[in-house]
Amino acid sequence: MVKTRIWANVTAVAAWLLALAGMVALAWGMSVPGWASGTAAASSVAAVTYAWLLISQRLDPPPRELIKPYIAAVLAPVTWLAAASGGPGSPAVVALALGIRVIAGAENIRTAISVSAGALVALTAIHYSVGGTIAFSNMMSGGVVFAAIALFPAWQVKRAQENAKKRRRATRSDGVFGSERTDTPRAFEAMPSDLRRGIEVTRKEAEERRQTEVLSRYLCDVRDALGADEVVFWRWTGARDTLVAAACSGDGAETEPTKFNHAEWLPLVKWSAEERIVHFDEGKPGPRIAMGPVAGLKRAFGALSISADAGLKPSRDDLKVWVPRYTAQVAVLAELLETREEVGRQNRRTQALLRAAQEFQSNRTIELLGRSICETALAVTSAARAALVRWHPSSNDGEVQSVSEGHRIAEGWPISEDSQVGTMCKNGLPQVWEDARMIARHTRIYGAWETPRPIGSMAIIPLKREAGVIGAIVIEGDEPGDVLIAEVRNVRLLAAIAAVSLETMWEIEEVTRRARTDQLTGLANRRHFDEQITRVLAETDRFGGSASLVVADIDFFKAVNDTHGHDGGDAVLQSVAQAFQDGVRNVDTCARYGGEEIAVLLPQTNMDGARDFAERLRKAIETRVVLYAGRPISVTASFGVASYPDSVATHDALFPTADRALYQAKAEGRNRVRCVVPGSVQKTA
Ligand code: GH3
Ligand code: MG
Ligand code: MG
Repeated sequence: MVKTRIWANVTAVAAWLLALAGMVALAWGMSVPGWASGTAAASSVAAVTYAWLLISQRLDPPPRELIKPYIAAVLAPVTWLAAASGGPGSPAVVALALGIRVIAGAENIRTAISVSAGALVALTAIHYSVGGTIAFSNMMSGGVVFAAIALFPAWQVKRAQENAKKRRRATRSDGVFGSERTDTPRAFEAMPSDLRRGIEVTRKEAEERRQTEVLSRYLCDVRDALGADEVVFWRWTGARDTLVAAACSGDGAETEPTKFNHAEWLPLVKWSAEERIVHFDEGKPGPRIAMGPVAGLKRAFGALSISADAGLKPSRDDLKVWVPRYTAQVAVLAELLETREEVGRQNRRTQALLRAAQEFQSNRTIELLGRSICETALAVTSAARAALVRWHPSSNDGEVQSVSEGHRIAEGWPISEDSQVGTMCKNGLPQVWEDARMIARHTRIYGAWETPRPIGSMAIIPLKREAGVIGAIVIEGDEPGDVLIAEVRNVRLLAAIAAVSLETMWEIEEVTRRARTDQLTGLANRRHFDEQITRVLAETDRFGGSASLVVADIDFFKAVNDTHGHDGGDAVLQSVAQAFQDGVRNVDTCARYGGEEIAVLLPQTNMDGARDFAERLRKAIETRVVLYAGRPISVTASFGVASYPDSVATHDALFPTADRALYQAKAEGRNRVRCVVPGSVQKTA
């Protein structure tokens, strides 16, 4: 590996010195172009070499602080290109372009691209407005170089950083040693979220305190054995760039060292942890501080420091033996505590799964079952949101069945075949993205209707039964690494348990739905409609208000059948049914009551409202055209309206009364609405 830091800075400084020399030369009015091309080329070579090293991964993924020097390095030749080509405005132009580009940085590639493009346009405009002389073609080639050199490697840097972060997260374990992990056992979900969060924090704090106490006791023993003033266990923070004191040979609860010389010793401790070297800081009569790396079998925790102002008692040689022994033991202890925490967490999650398995049996509706599955998915992982999706393998589509609280996706939304969820349902394989930021930005998770939103990590677990994939559980985390492969095991178990209950529930739902609907039109059938009338009228009696009934019959439908055949008639019937479906509210029930007779029940609607509704539908049907076998077909319909209790006194009278109004509409010439007011049939328009 090449020493990244040195390379980046040398390249940047060299390239910049060349550019600066050019600017100074310009300011002095010197004619530059003679040697300009040579220096520009040298600077370009330096920058391109750096980019190549980066892309071919000979450089370690560059840390964040290297990005700015790097951008400066790759920008230098471009700057130079513009500066060297002369013109009174060019130094100002160059400064502007550079300033904007550095502000944009590599934080966000999309911003960088748009700002760079903007800078180029501004650069061109300003250049010409101050009477610049660079040929347009030169400006353009400058732009191409700008884009090719500056943007592509910037993207590479960003990707390398993301990969590095992902690797760090994958090796990072849970617990007090560097995690923000929380548990959400099942019972929590029923509590208000504030309270829930409070309890989580309290439990986490208690666990951390317990761990600190165990470690502190051990560090006290080390301190006494070596005659030191203070022994501190330093651990890496999540991002692994800083060491913080995790435990200290104090009275237990206190983690902050009191006798540690931060300014002088902390850089040494950090170095010792980074390079994995045992180190002594010499003093008289003996070493004042000894330090060594604390690393377990799976990963590095940080370092141990043993300090005594008056010098440590044991000799250097003794310390060489003892320090590695103590650091190894601290590592074992840290690993044990971590395992204990992990076992505790997994126990709570297993309990949540068991409880869920029992509870799924007793959920009476699909809505309750769906919600219960989403909540359990959150309880057994560190995910922030969960969704249950239903999938139909025969038609390769699906819809969102349930979502957890606060999800940006709504229940009932369709899943498209080419979305991530659709693809996973089709191939039936579970998929985990510990870092899902890219995929969330560039693909649709659920369907085309979705607006991209930030997702840190994600897993899609298909629900499989003998018949094929019947759905999926989708969990999302806010941050990369919130959803981890190891945890998804729990969701797979949950999926296996839930699939059985869901399949039964969905089958019952399907059978019920089929028993209620008319095959040809998809409207409710007569039996279901009669049930609804009974229910709605009883509610009207109880709660007051009115309910209305509209019956409609297509005019001269026999003629449609005669002219276009029975199939043509069916197409018209379907189209008219669709017009009704489009025109009703959610609470209304629309049924095919006879051959080409459609009835609509409007709860909490009086005669005026029902008449308006019927009139609106009459017009909608009149203007609707069905194309059948290439020929347009238009029909009209007649309507009868009755209202309870406005026009009839008893439940039983409602339907015959509306039917009478319909008959009247037919008799008076068809394509019209007739309403029944007490004792008579009232005309509308
Ligand atoms: P009117 O204006 O008096 O209503 O005249 P009409 O021709 O529509 O007369 P009527 O309502 O009595 O006729 C109903 C016709 O609808 C009879 C039947 O052939 C046809 N029909 C009933 N059910 C279906 C169906 O499911 N599909 C098709 N294509 N036709 C049907
Ligand atoms: Mg008819
Ligand atoms: Mg009829």
